[in-house]
Amino acid sequence: MERIYFDHNATTFLHPQVRLFLKEAEEKYFGNSSSIHWAGREARSFLNRAREKIASLLGAKESEILFNSGGSESINTALRGVAALRASNRRKILTTPIEHPAVLKTCEFLKSQGFALEFFSVDSQGRLDLHEARQKIDSETLLVSVMWANNELGNLNPIEQIGALCQAQGALFHCDAVQAAGKVPIDLQGLSLDLLSFSGHKFHGPKGVGALYVREGISISPLLWGGAQEKSLRAGTQDTLRIYGMALALEECLRTLSEDSQKVNSLRNQLEKGILDLSPSAKINGDRERRLPNTTNLLFPGIDGETLLMNLDLRGIAASAGSACESGSIDPSHVLLALGRSAQEAKSSVRFSLSKWNTTQEVERTLEVLSEILKEYA
Ligand code: PLP
Repeated sequence: MERIYFDHNATTFLHPQVRLFLKEAEEKYFGNSSSIHWAGREARSFLNRAREKIASLLGAKESEILFNSGGSESINTALRGVAALRASNRRKILTTPIEHPAVLKTCEFLKSQGFALEFFSVDSQGRLDLHEARQKIDSETLLVSVMWANNELGNLNPIEQIGALCQAQGALFHCDAVQAAGKVPIDLQGLSLDLLSFSGHKFHGPKGVGALYVREGISISPLLWGGAQEKSLRAGTQDTLRIYGMALALEECLRTLSEDSQKVNSLRNQLEKGILDLSPSAKINGDRERRLPNTTNLLFPGIDGETLLMNLDLRGIAASAGSACESGSIDPSHVLLALGRSAQEAKSSVRFSLSKWNTTQEVERTLEVLSEILKEYA
């Protein structure tokens, strides 16, 4: 059976060049990058080159990049790291209701520690209101966390404007860029951003490695105490080869980003249009204008999303009902509920997330399969 993968926002396969690199490098290099001998020097050179690459790809300084185990750790370190220092007497933390649980649950934890947690509202397409943001971000605000791109909808947030509002009020700004890195250009030099999280496995890099950008001059407390790795901000022996693999993957994605974005955008549009033709009552969830080129989230009224996904899976097609961490759970998506969809509508929604490696034939095959499945409901 042909297998089709439309769940790239959950995770991606390794970029062929990263796979090749790891295959060859793992036979040769095993050193601990903190050791002073030849094996350590070899490991250190991968770590240094990875930091150099990532910093230059994102417009950051090498000293501003901290490696860790992925998006969740990065986000926890950023939010809890800022809060733990209590560098000012500001108590307000602001975020959106459509963040990933890594942000939402960390913010709830901080609330339990005495911080005042507030949410920006989102409209029925998941968009933020900048007028409201201007009012909410004030001199009491310690930290604002807004995601660059939403994992379920693909929505892109006005990061530049939020950064400027934070800067004007002296609030720190963290951005969860886990779904944006490798998919849209990120230039930290032109942005008022203090902390930014991303994760290798979302852009064809290895799983279990990620990074946190911490702007020079911003102090955070570590989450993990121990050795002096990562400027004593993240103890533990680094997985140097996978970290280098993540840097290679980011470099590869950004090298061909503009042509790949066009390709994936037209595949996504072909799929979306095909679905809307097959099922005229289907609706697109999220912002149709400002969104990632690879993502579509569709509501199929009257159809159970999980059953639809199971039927697709039986025919070899992988899609998703929401964020990867929640797949398998029957809870309706908190993101769709925040947009004002009912629990029933949220449970009737399915996300397709593509990559440049998908093909027109795969989209056509998926439309054929969907047409068969949808007939069963008619
Ligand atoms: N933030 C967003 C927007 C995500 O989509 C994810 C993963 O799905 C995460 C954070 C967590 O990243 P990781 O799986 O690397 O911990």
